[in-house]
Amino acid sequence: MPPVTFYPGPSKVYPEVANYMQDAYNEGVLSINHRSAACMDIVKATLDLLNRKLHVPADYAVFFVSSATESWEIISQSLVREQSFHLYNGAFGKKWLEYAQNLRPLSIGATFDLNTPLAASQVEIPKKTEVVCLTQNETSNGTQVSMEAIAALQSERYLTAVDATSSLGGVLLDFTKADIWLASVQKCLGLPAGLGLLICSPRALQRAWEIKERKHYNSLLFLQDNMQKFQTQYTPNVLNIYLLKRVLEQVAPIVEIADRLQKQASEWYTLFDTDASPFRLLAQNPAVRSDTVITVAAEPALLSRIKSQASQVGILLGNGYGSWKDTTFRIANFPAITPGEISMLKHFLVLNTW
Ligand SMILES: *Cc1c(COP(=O)(O)O)cnc(C)c1O
Repeated sequence: MPPVTFYPGPSKVYPEVANYMQDAYNEGVLSINHRSAACMDIVKATLDLLNRKLHVPADYAVFFVSSATESWEIISQSLVREQSFHLYNGAFGKKWLEYAQNLRPLSIGATFDLNTPLAASQVEIPKKTEVVCLTQNETSNGTQVSMEAIAALQSERYLTAVDATSSLGGVLLDFTKADIWLASVQKCLGLPAGLGLLICSPRALQRAWEIKERKHYNSLLFLQDNMQKFQTQYTPNVLNIYLLKRVLEQVAPIVEIADRLQKQASEWYTLFDTDASPFRLLAQNPAVRSDTVITVAAEPALLSRIKSQASQVGILLGNGYGSWKDTTFRIANFPAITPGEISMLKHFLVLNTW
């Protein structure tokens, strides 16, 4: 058995994945030609399940790429001529801005305070902005941006792009409230890494057609040419697409999953907020706290003791990330993690630190 991991990516895979991998081998999926009817059927079924289980709108296009990072680059290459505008409060949002600036140097960013909910009405969007980019769930510090705030950013003037890498599959997202969504499967979808999802509204595709960028193997228009045939421009991670299909068949409707995660998150927050707790929460404002990544601050000495004690009993805690590396640890609250595992971690923490 693998250790019980609470790492927020790569994270715990659904245990059923072991059988699905064996099935993939037995069914010949591992050697399948990616232009064959059998492969196109897998792709098509997976797209249908994304519509049904996650409520991806039928008129939005879904593309299979290799990672969330690749989607960042595709957006700059194919949907931005000169300038994207990035709102961020943590390490992933900042990284996205840096990747964007490498390709479109005029791109700019604005930070917002970790404890202050993003208020679209107070943000001044620069005139030349073509795409506004933001991270729905900032995995580095355990904060999230509400659907209302995302919706309030929508405008005729520009497209909005949302990184939902550590929330897609765990949080109820209203995809109609933004033009571009991106994620990868090794977080809330409980799968091994190596597959990314890029989801585009009709308006985003329209923009790609206006820009007509076809200089890269992963130009959005190539992706679209191929996806119209349920194919990809290069040989894709067919195994992971197959696993995604099987996992989507298995999981509860997103409304139920999101409801469970929200309750679990609030129980975590209540626990760490008690007077007896030797920890404190990095996000002090309950309104900004993530449903899927619980970020806990502690003295460095306590932090290293608790992490090594945890690993001795087969529990893997998430390290801090970016500027919070040495002062926090993170607990994934992803759907594949069971209530039993959560109570085991709670007991461990209370027993060893309270
Ligand atoms: C994990 C993560 C990424 C990077 O995902 P890759 O699949 O490794 O490219 C990007 N953004 C956020 C918010 C993440 O949590």
